[in-house]
Amino acid sequence: MNKKSKVYPSTFSESRRCNPWMNGQTTSQSAKSPKAACKGGRVYIVGAGPGSAYLISVRGLQILQQADCVIYDRLIGKELLNFVPQKAELVYAGKDHTEHPPKQEDINRLIIEKARTCKTVVRLKGGDAMIFGRAAEELKCLACNKIDFEIVPGITAASAAAAYAGVVLTDRSTASAVTYVTGQTAEGKDVEDIDFDSLVKLNGTIVFYMAVKNMSKICRRLIGSGLAADTGAVVVADASLPSQKIVKGTVSDIAGKCAQKNIEPPAVMIIGKFCFSWLENLPLFDRKVLITRDKEGNADFACKLALRGAQVVDYPAFKIEDLTDSGEFKEIFKQLADFDWVFFTSATGVRLFFESVGKLNKDARILAGIKVACIGAQTAQSLEDFGIKADFMPAVFTSDELADGFIKERNPAGKKILLLRSALATSELAEKLRGSGARVRQFSLYTAQKVKNDLTAIAEQLKTGAIDWIAFASSFAVEYFFADFSSQQIDKKIKIASIGPTTSRTIRKYGLEPAVEARQHTIDGLIEAMEKVK
Ligand code: SAH
Repeated sequence: MNKKSKVYPSTFSESRRCNPWMNGQTTSQSAKSPKAACKGGRVYIVGAGPGSAYLISVRGLQILQQADCVIYDRLIGKELLNFVPQKAELVYAGKDHTEHPPKQEDINRLIIEKARTCKTVVRLKGGDAMIFGRAAEELKCLACNKIDFEIVPGITAASAAAAYAGVVLTDRSTASAVTYVTGQTAEGKDVEDIDFDSLVKLNGTIVFYMAVKNMSKICRRLIGSGLAADTGAVVVADASLPSQKIVKGTVSDIAGKCAQKNIEPPAVMIIGKFCFSWLENLPLFDRKVLITRDKEGNADFACKLALRGAQVVDYPAFKIEDLTDSGEFKEIFKQLADFDWVFFTSATGVRLFFESVGKLNKDARILAGIKVACIGAQTAQSLEDFGIKADFMPAVFTSDELADGFIKERNPAGKKILLLRSALATSELAEKLRGSGARVRQFSLYTAQKVKNDLTAIAEQLKTGAIDWIAFASSFAVEYFFADFSSQQIDKKIKIASIGPTTSRTIRKYGLEPAVEARQHTIDGLIEAMEKVK
């Protein structure tokens, strides 16, 4: 994977979307992009994986990065579209419940039209394109029109759901078959077409896709066909996303539990004798954690929490605003060689720095001859991704430690130091370095902006104590959170987890005491701290 593919740009330009299905227009006329210059080529049917953009295959990502036209479905991780070249055309073909959902024949026609004019057409579908994806119709159409194609497999929702719910789909002694079934058959029909007797006779695991609408009916029919009422059932909604929900029960009570928890599509229901489920043994099993980073940070945090058994309440408190597109930054670039040291204090800072280096048609050699200091393993890793090994990294991850350790070991008197940080960073680092005789210049690579969230559901969960933890990974997340909620709105049972001393100080400012403070001031450290509380 090249460097670019490691970076998840945070914004997807809406203006590049086109909707040829509006107003009855179903040809590509209205979708034509003036810049799309391509000649007839190949169609790639790419499985995007379910939910999270991280679950696409390397091959899928590679092809997306070369696309001239991408025709994409509703349930793909939208961040994937950031990997598509700027000049490419994006066509949304999701069959959502809008006024003008495209008909399958129209999508088929559009694919053919695009294949005749573009070199690389990507048909991007959620999960694996070959499973409940109407791929057969699209492939038949391609074959009939003698259009070259390649199929790129994807992770299907059943596999992802099983992984995140911690159940195995097959086992030598208990389940030698797994059956994927759609819980909603052809339009208008119900579950009447499903042969429940045969399904039960197979004595294996059954995974229902599109499971929500008919869940109680499906479960009743399974029991009616002889399935033991205490057979295990797990429903996973929004698998792999920060909004992921897992409900566990039996085939007789799962539908009621899902209704109670307001489970909504997309969701799969897995039914079987789960010989092995490690979910209950995970350290944060059944804990509900409210997470308060930015959207991308929350997605990463949610993934890590899911792997520890926790459920997540997604509250993206802020978004990152890139400040590198300024005259001052260009000036700094020109003077970079004058500095002895450059300090990075976050992985976001490193990413934005190197993105702007790329925009100026330069690369990591811009730091040749300059020493680099950083805080935190993630910042160090991010630097390494761009080919830079940090010359100095303190063992403990705070600005204070960075300053103290650096002054002690490197004696910076008279040295010119450039601090590349966030606009919200405290002044301690600069002051300490200046105090030791260094000449310090600071530039804010980014700042954070408050995000508007729907607060009603979260307020209710805070009030009733339905949340176990609120996790704060920065001081500004605390500030933004308390701009929306007051400490009186938080039930006393709810515990607060803080990433480090600065964040804890801000929490105390609002009259609350963190139950834990991470020893390592990283997301992993924060999770570890929560795990220690029983
Ligand atoms: N081709 C897709 C399935 C498309 S049908 C695949 O291989 O996964 C759409 C159904 O897939 C949804 O109704 C739901 O049952 C399931 N699904 C898709 N994304 C999901 C997700 N993130 N979590 C749970 N189920 C999902």
